[in-house]
Amino acid sequence: MSQNEHKLNINAPVDTSVEREKHGFDVLKDDTIKCADCRRKLIDIIQVKEDEGIIKEIQVQCYCGGSSFIYEIKGHTFMQAAKGVAIVDMPTRVVGNITYITIEVIKT
Ligand SMILES: [Zn+2]
Repeated sequence: MSQNEHKLNINAPVDTSVEREKHGFDVLKDDTIKCADCRRKLIDIIQVKEDEGIIKEIQVQCYCGGSSFIYEIKGHTFMQAAKGVAIVDMPTRVVGNITYITIEVIKT
């Protein structure tokens, strides 16, 4: 399995690629989650639809041993690994309307 396939599989529960292709989307916010320790870019995230009822709290575990600050975003989003890193694990936990996501990345 290539890194790309692995990445897509892991993204599947969070990203709704089918919806994205069917309806198209407007990018409301385009951001990058960085490591708070080494400042590397880890995850590219875009917000495509606002929804106050959907809250994501995202923290990325960097391969340097550090991690990002907790990143909060509301609404519908797409995420992918930044250039030079790959997502290896992404456990999520849902509490009410808040989804807590911990993303573990490795260097590619
Ligand atoms: Zn780091």
